[in-house]
Amino acid sequence: MSQIQLLPAVQALLSQPGRLFLGGTWQDAASGRRFVVENPATECALTEVAEGDARDVDTAVDAARTAFNGEWARQSPAQRGLLLLRLAELLDQHREELAQLITLENGKPIANARGEAASAANIVRYFAGWPTKIEGSTLPVSPASGAPMLNYTLREPVGVCALIVPWNFPLTMCVWKLGPALATGCVAVLKPAEQTPLVAIRLVQLIEAAGFPPGVVNLITGLGAATGAPLAQHPGVDKIAFTGSTQVGRLIAQGATSNMKKVSLELGGKSPNIILPDADIVRAAKGAADGIFYNQGQVCTAGSRLYVHASVLDQVLEELRRHANAHVLGPGLDPSSSMGPLVSARQLSTVSGYLQRGLEEGAELICGGGRPAHLERGHFIEPSVFLDRAERACIAREEIFGPVLTVMSWTDIDELVLRANDSPYGLAAGLWTRDLRSAHRVAAQLKAGSVWINCWNVVDPASPFGGYKQSGWGREMGKNVIDAYTETKSVFVDLA
Ligand code: NAP
Ligand code: MG
Repeated sequence: MSQIQLLPAVQALLSQPGRLFLGGTWQDAASGRRFVVENPATECALTEVAEGDARDVDTAVDAARTAFNGEWARQSPAQRGLLLLRLAELLDQHREELAQLITLENGKPIANARGEAASAANIVRYFAGWPTKIEGSTLPVSPASGAPMLNYTLREPVGVCALIVPWNFPLTMCVWKLGPALATGCVAVLKPAEQTPLVAIRLVQLIEAAGFPPGVVNLITGLGAATGAPLAQHPGVDKIAFTGSTQVGRLIAQGATSNMKKVSLELGGKSPNIILPDADIVRAAKGAADGIFYNQGQVCTAGSRLYVHASVLDQVLEELRRHANAHVLGPGLDPSSSMGPLVSARQLSTVSGYLQRGLEEGAELICGGGRPAHLERGHFIEPSVFLDRAERACIAREEIFGPVLTVMSWTDIDELVLRANDSPYGLAAGLWTRDLRSAHRVAAQLKAGSVWINCWNVVDPASPFGGYKQSGWGREMGKNVIDAYTETKSVFVDLA
């Protein structure tokens, strides 16, 4: 086992406690408290980070408001675009460092972390193009008086945005939200997950280096109940953008009603992936395996329910077993590892609990199902596949957020669509087929924000992303997200 060397910039970040960034100043929490950030591959402490509370949240929100009403409001759209471009360049220049931090605190293999860092730069670059293209319209109004009347709309930034993000894609989740917030002229208070504050700290250092005015982006590290909750309930916050569990999403939506904050939510999923009998079975099975095992299964769009046509079930199970067994589990910093640990002991305990319940509820274990014997430390779990003929086990219905696939078989396509849609979630869905007619007909019937045909987990900053049903409110990416960070003002001018 040989691991890559940590860059000096990463070592420097780990050598001192992480701090909050409030109003353009790096500082300790008002309480002076800190919490430990752990490496999930070794269970050793990486460093300590400031543990914010409601007082720091107040400072952050005040600083954001001051920036929103001050220097930031005077920057032209072109200037905002230029700052975002500069940030994208910095993200590219520091890609390896960001990737190392992602792997250290999240656990994912370094190649995937590099991919995440590259994607973050691309997303910021995409949003850099938006400020100069956010436009209103002139509308053909018909006043009863017959007076000549001009009506036009303006799109204005919503204001102070609370951005609360999870640990599974600790860098891209930040820029999915910061990109549109900054492009539209909003200001932000960013709260990363407690497991992954380090890459967020480095990102905010790069935001500072890019030249964004003080207070435009503020960073609050800390625990959900002590920082996320007061931020989500704060009367000075105009909008919340949240990605995480449906349970916390519900709390956030409730807290937002006090001052009617705008809310967008990206929540959980239990996404159906469907293999039709005419599919390229080898490709479909590889896609299904990647769709559940990527990022150790800790993906909101994980293809965790696989519906395979009965005529090809045995072949698909064989391929899935082969792909699962081919994974090399190990620390993400070892380039030969293709699967890292789960993010935390808690996540390991949740996923292990589901493996146990799957067996108890009568699902048939095809492969995996436990902890790898050769790894003594770290929150590792084997990539696992169950066959659930009755589709009754909780592993067929509940979000596991781990590398656990539940396979079911089907014969009638109309009945299958009902089964696929029979879920409180509606984030993603996919199908594998060579038949154009079934592809588009089934895609139209699936209740999901993203449908992937002969692919999985394709996400692009130009294309909307989000969930039906309990998978969320609103869409990120593309034009939709620009609308979500702006208010529309309708202006009437009496020309009589
Ligand atoms: P989570 O608790 O929903 O965490 C998401 C973010 O919300 C974190 O920054 C978290 O801070 C913060 N938070 C927690 N409680 C809060 C509150 N009361 N008010 C405001 N913010 C709050 O998710 P998790 O505990 O990390 O993971 C639990 C489950 O959520 C997973 O097993 C998975 O099923 C799901 N999940 C989904 C996604 C997704 O992409 N949709 C991502 C991650 C997790 P702390 O980190 O300090 O708790
Ligand atoms: Mg939590």
